[in-house]
Amino acid sequence: MAQTSTNALWSGQAHMPSVSGSQVTIVSGKGAWLTTDDGRTLLDGAGVLWHANVGHGREEIAKAAYDQMCELETHHVFGRFLNRPAVALANRLAALAPMGDPRVILTSGGSDSVDVALKLARRHWQLAGRTSKTVVLSRDHGYHGLHAFGTSVGGLAFNREGYGTPSLIPETARVSHDRIDDVSHRIAEIGPENIAAIIAEPVMGTGGVYPPPLGYFEGLQDLCRRHEILLVLDEVITGFGRVGAMFAAQRYGFEPDMVVFAKGVTSGYAPLGGVLVSPRVWQPFFDGDDAPVFRHGLTYSGHATGCAVAMKNLDILESERLPERVLDLENVLSAELEALRGCPGMTDVRYAGLMGGVELAPEVDGDKVVRYAEEHGVIIRNLPRNVIMMSPPLVVTDDELASIPRVVGAALRALA
Ligand code: PLP
Repeated sequence: MAQTSTNALWSGQAHMPSVSGSQVTIVSGKGAWLTTDDGRTLLDGAGVLWHANVGHGREEIAKAAYDQMCELETHHVFGRFLNRPAVALANRLAALAPMGDPRVILTSGGSDSVDVALKLARRHWQLAGRTSKTVVLSRDHGYHGLHAFGTSVGGLAFNREGYGTPSLIPETARVSHDRIDDVSHRIAEIGPENIAAIIAEPVMGTGGVYPPPLGYFEGLQDLCRRHEILLVLDEVITGFGRVGAMFAAQRYGFEPDMVVFAKGVTSGYAPLGGVLVSPRVWQPFFDGDDAPVFRHGLTYSGHATGCAVAMKNLDILESERLPERVLDLENVLSAELEALRGCPGMTDVRYAGLMGGVELAPEVDGDKVVRYAEEHGVIIRNLPRNVIMMSPPLVVTDDELASIPRVVGAALRALA
């Protein structure tokens, strides 16, 4: 007989033997704060998983979901069918996009969107008769979710291992995350005639919080243009205000062929993501009787309630000018992080917008830093490469924000 358990949930990215007994159940949230089932109030220094952009407990979003569900929970957007919120959201995102006249594919989250974008990149070249262009490049330490395509292009080795093949989906390759001459050599090695696309996070998140290295993306765009490689920006974290603009591409002046988004589009109030597709890529599917069908589509692509939630979330981002606010908050975050230099056990600090990282020396146990912070009222996360991340909701106050790097400093001094 199966053993009975009080908790049947198999958690994500968890070493189950060591998490059981110390799990934290979050029961409510308001603004930048979360409450646990044992009554503790904790500052959400992580924005949950980098996504809680407008903050917790927004009744106007709950109301938008309620109203939409009363009218129509959802209807698919396959073939000739549409639903109004999906069309409204696609049009609104097209107007906000960092490229002219895009088409918008909607999905249920980030990993879905990575799948769609990379399939579309390959499909693009097949259709253009360039059938050898199939390889997808991605950066060392990059993170693109954990569906089969995201796992295959992921730059964090432990997420790729154990499936009996180095790449679940064939024809992927890693390039340097910060040295453009290495990228150039790798392209020459593989042969540009074999490369469909490169996917890259403008500000690398899970791999350790890396702002765009000086000249790297400019070099990448140049290589993409010269070698006819599609540039897919993964803005799952950076989209919707997190780095001080609706999209990081706008802040940094990048010109992508596709943009993958999720998280901040709903601030986590509904699971939703998507891909912004530039004319170069969408046009062949829209023009002429012999245009092919792109075989994408999920039951919940363009989920009506998710889209209504996203519309209200965008209203809040715009009316409260949260992307602009991030530019002010960035000054607070950067000053506090810079003040940590010289702290025992830290080797670097990095930041962009409202994303911060404190890199720890290998001998420092990052999990202990996270535990210390939690005991002192702040939730932060230790990223795989021993980098403490912070990305609170964009509604955090200056003082609340300052307390996040400060608690990391206090933890490092206490542990030294
Ligand atoms: N891409 C990036 C840059 C991410 O950070 C994530 C998730 O953290 C994903 C893709 C995957 O998104 P999801 O977890 O919604 O599938």
